[in-house]
Amino acid sequence: MTATAKALALALLTTAAAPALAQTAPETLRTAQAGQTGIDAETLTEIAGTLASDQFEGRAPGTAGEDKTIGYLIGRFEALGLEPGGVDGGWTQAVPLLHTQLGTPETLQVTVGGQTTDWTFPRDVYVSTLQPKNMAAIDGADMVFVGYGVDAPERQWDDFKGQDLKGKVAVFLVNDPDFAAQQNEPVSGKFKGRTMTYYGRWTYKFEEAARRGAIGALIVHETEAAGYGWNVVESPGGENYDIVRQPEDVTSLALQGWISGDAAQKLFADAGQDLAKLRTQARSASFRPVPLKATMTARFPVTQEVVKSQNVLAKIPGTTRPGEVVMYGAHWDAYGEGPPDENGKIYRAGANDDALGIAGMMEIARLMKADEAPKRSVVFAAWTAEERGLLGSEYYAQDPIYPIETTVANLTLDILQTAGKAKDVLLIGKGQGTLEDDLATYAKAQGRTVTPESLPERGLFYRADHFSMAKRGVPVLLMMGISGATDLVDGGKEAGQAWVDAYTGNCYHQACDAVSDDWDLAGAVQDISLMYAIGADLARSDRWPGWKDGSEFKAIREETAAARR
Ligand SMILES: [Zn+2]
Repeated sequence: MTATAKALALALLTTAAAPALAQTAPETLRTAQAGQTGIDAETLTEIAGTLASDQFEGRAPGTAGEDKTIGYLIGRFEALGLEPGGVDGGWTQAVPLLHTQLGTPETLQVTVGGQTTDWTFPRDVYVSTLQPKNMAAIDGADMVFVGYGVDAPERQWDDFKGQDLKGKVAVFLVNDPDFAAQQNEPVSGKFKGRTMTYYGRWTYKFEEAARRGAIGALIVHETEAAGYGWNVVESPGGENYDIVRQPEDVTSLALQGWISGDAAQKLFADAGQDLAKLRTQARSASFRPVPLKATMTARFPVTQEVVKSQNVLAKIPGTTRPGEVVMYGAHWDAYGEGPPDENGKIYRAGANDDALGIAGMMEIARLMKADEAPKRSVVFAAWTAEERGLLGSEYYAQDPIYPIETTVANLTLDILQTAGKAKDVLLIGKGQGTLEDDLATYAKAQGRTVTPESLPERGLFYRADHFSMAKRGVPVLLMMGISGATDLVDGGKEAGQAWVDAYTGNCYHQACDAVSDDWDLAGAVQDISLMYAIGADLARSDRWPGWKDGSEFKAIREETAAARR
């Protein structure tokens, strides 16, 4: 049977379960609504297994493993009958990456009231650089405490109050202003309580410091508010990656990083400030930046190189609204060669993270292509360098091939659940966008419920490739199997949690993330089917998903509303 015939047969069996949307939907979509698409678990295993095999050398950007990966992805897209969706009619988009590595600091110190204290790297201060220079230097720059460093007009909140940061070192608190708030404080709930907003992410704080021309940015580390210890902060060892940027887009920050709680305590005390008191003040909208009467000096030699990498893009052109794009995404890269074990060379090949996501996207592409052509174009993006900081998707989003304002949605697959069928599906970023309503609709049609991620304070919503699009206003949906415990048909929530614990504890970013006989992809098939159904529906619709009130990204999308009339 052809895929369409099979889908049609299934559709006839399941029409009773389908919601109202189904009347106008094609066969495969109707069956998806009943949780039965032609998404094939064996094909998923085959693709993930190939990409994670030794031949692909762990798929690190810029290696021979990348060349093989790119060739394989293009071959699969071609075999599916998709069209090239990259730059100039090709399959790819070149993504040059900047790789920097700090050497031993020549100087690293702070001076307060004529007294100079040497800081030890990385014990007291951990920094890295994203400037393409051979020396990362700060020379006696004034330090300014900016509280949480949040500028959120939609929340009537501005920590900066016009404070000039040009050439200065901005010192931030971790997380967002209501994270540590008591229930009765005016700020409580203003930044979604324990749920992290983008203002709580360290990436936001460094971006905000750079927007204001600061030369340095330091975040005062706290284990609880960060969600991880100092060992995690210092683990990259002075290494960092960025996309290669135009000179005018290079960050103003020579150094960015964290100051340990102890070193910060001493700095503030020496400067005659009470850090505990300032923390409380920073939870008020009336907070004003506090110049610390301290200066920072640092000189780090830097080794830098440009790594050439690529995104791969394929498309199915839309028939009547080809300029409107429904985009799927997953990342092809992993960690490459890992530290060798007793058997010698090993690769950290990310079979689940995210070869399986790529496989899911390929299966969605296959079904989509087997269907009658959609009204809107559907683009499939295999990103590079997600593991280096969402860089392939970031590069795309700052130099998009399809206009951001008419990109209908970005649907991302990154790590799928491999523990079998589930009674629910996980939602990351509850309350952000209207695509969560689509998720609920199609999950219901599958007889499943929606469960919000278990630890929204970890800010997973800001930590996968969909976010590169989200921060520019594109509505997004992320499918990520480790964002909480799913209620497994076999074993319930307990078994779901056990799977998450085992994967994140042993395999995440480790050699153990390999295709395994223990994989049961029935749950992944359900989740991929859901993403297929949501995208297939959007590709045949005129509607524009959006952001909900209170989302950090609603305003930026609305700026381009005219392009979507
Ligand atoms: Zn990933």
